[in-house]
Amino acid sequence: MYVADSNRYNNMLYLRCGNSGLKLSAISLGFWHNFGDSDPFDNMRKIVQRAFDLGITYFDLANNYGPPPGAAEENFGRILKFDLKPYRDEIIIATKAGYKMWEGPYGDWGSKKYLLASLDQSLKRMNLDYVDIFYSHRPDPQTPIEETMEALYKAVHSGKALYAGISNYNPEQTKLAYSAAKQMGLKLIVNQVRYNMFARDVENGLFNTLNELGMGAVIYSPLAQGLLTERYLDGIPEDSRVRKSGVFLKESDITPERIEKVKKLSEIAKRRGQTVSQLALSWILRNKVVASVIVGASKVSQIEDNVGCINNLEFSEEELKEIEEILKG
Ligand code: NDP
Repeated sequence: MYVADSNRYNNMLYLRCGNSGLKLSAISLGFWHNFGDSDPFDNMRKIVQRAFDLGITYFDLANNYGPPPGAAEENFGRILKFDLKPYRDEIIIATKAGYKMWEGPYGDWGSKKYLLASLDQSLKRMNLDYVDIFYSHRPDPQTPIEETMEALYKAVHSGKALYAGISNYNPEQTKLAYSAAKQMGLKLIVNQVRYNMFARDVENGLFNTLNELGMGAVIYSPLAQGLLTERYLDGIPEDSRVRKSGVFLKESDITPERIEKVKKLSEIAKRRGQTVSQLALSWILRNKVVASVIVGASKVSQIEDNVGCINNLEFSEEELKEIEEILKG
């Protein structure tokens, strides 16, 4: 029987999500890859246990994570049942709907019909009464924003979600969503977006918008899916995302230029007593609007490595400049 480490809250940081009452673990665990039906259950169970033991309280899911879609929620539901049920009030479970989940006109995008049916299905797969955060996974240009927000409002009002968020909304869409929700009496607390040393568009406006609105940023793909680690420095390992999936991170993404940059970054990391992944994560956490950085992991050792970033979050001006030079070069 799993018993959580009694020291689990000693080293992790918990950051307030915008001006809401909710704090998130600075590092969180994502279920996009490695939690499908072809992945070994025992490994995913160990990853989740270790994550919780290291102070990670936020687990990030979506209806379509798998493969097949839905499998990650089912597998997480089993892990909850075996291991985490006694700790339900100590964890934040998020799910999303917005990408294609089932056939026909009601299984995709941002209609009330789709979002609320999908949330019910997610709750069933995880065997939960409620999730902590329910996200609109992407903006839908064809559905009025008021309708998508009404779906989130109803999710919260019915008690099936405690908080509501959006994901992949640009600054303009974020402002519209925020004010539509506000008119209904719903406070959007978070926008979940991609941000890493190689993908920095959210620095140009979105972070400011979130600050102004009092929303938090939750960051996905902080390690550029594994590129910003030591994973690809000596070729492409057989058990890597590129080889196992190859859809979202392709062999052609592992360019000599990027590898060169990672090698240079690793010099700075070494000086700071960090690994490359720890450097990449602490560099993201220097932004005060960031409430949590969601990492993916295929191994327990990766979670241990990533959580270690907490031990060195300070950057000197020189270090930041040096990093800029490397990323520009
Ligand atoms: P990362 O950038 O953290 O990439 C994770 C991958 O990097 C791992 O699977 C592993 O690759 C490798 N890795 C992680 N840690 C280490 C380490 N310490 N050393 C070496 N390699 C390491 O994030 P993801 O792209 O997986 O995204 C994280 C989460 O964000 C997702 O699970 C999901 O919850 C969320 N997300 C949300 C999206 C949205 O639209 N809202 C879109 C995408 C993600 P390998 O498998 O090769 O070992």
